Amino acid sequence: MCAKNNIHDTSHITYQGLLDGNEKFIKNALANDPDFFNKLAVQNPPVLWIGCADSRVPANQITNTNPGEIFVHRNIANMVIHTDMNMLSVLDYAVNVLKVKHVIVAGHYGCGGVAAALSNKQFGLIDNWLRHIKDVYRLYSHELDRISDTQLKVNRLVELNVIEQAYNLCKTTIIQNAWKERSDLEVHGWVIDIGTGLVKDLKVSSNDPQKLGYVYELDVELAGAH
Ligand SMILES: [Zn+2]
Repeated sequence: MCAKNNIHDTSHITYQGLLDGNEKFIKNALANDPDFFNKLAVQNPPVLWIGCADSRVPANQITNTNPGEIFVHRNIANMVIHTDMNMLSVLDYAVNVLKVKHVIVAGHYGCGGVAAALSNKQFGLIDNWLRHIKDVYRLYSHELDRISDTQLKVNRLVELNVIEQAYNLCKTTIIQNAWKERSDLEVHGWVIDIGTGLVKDLKVSSNDPQKLGYVYELDVELAGAH
């Protein structure tokens, strides 16, 4: 089969179609539960999802959840970059105000951002963002350099990138301070197979600052505090 035939035909998605779709969504939601929107007056999601911006990996559909159930942050290649005020603000609000119990970094096989980071091509502004994935490559080059198949190499880097981004979450003061206050907060790493929809749990879940490694573990109090 020609690869082109596999491209999802979105030509029927029009601007007006989105507004018509919204009417259908409201109608269906109220038909199933007349109280649907009243229940959304206050949100109480137990999960923060940090996923890729890719259109094929929407948090709610992938996990069969509904509005109000997952707090979502997405960017190219599901990165946790410590100077990203957007990510930090979402994380701080989710952990300290919403008191989520699970923070999931969700990558996906065939990630275009990860594939781009593996190449030497220049793509423009995004190269500065992708450089963080190149740093992950450098950390694991002993393993990745042995994989000759490009797709397998991309997919392994997808996994390693999720592991490193989950680790980056654990290094933040936000997660570390929350762990000192409560024991019901866990960080996880997932990879979604967009070919089957299946989630692979990378089994890197953590709720323990002592697994962080000496240099990243922070004291309870600020330096100089009395
Ligand atoms: Zn992606």
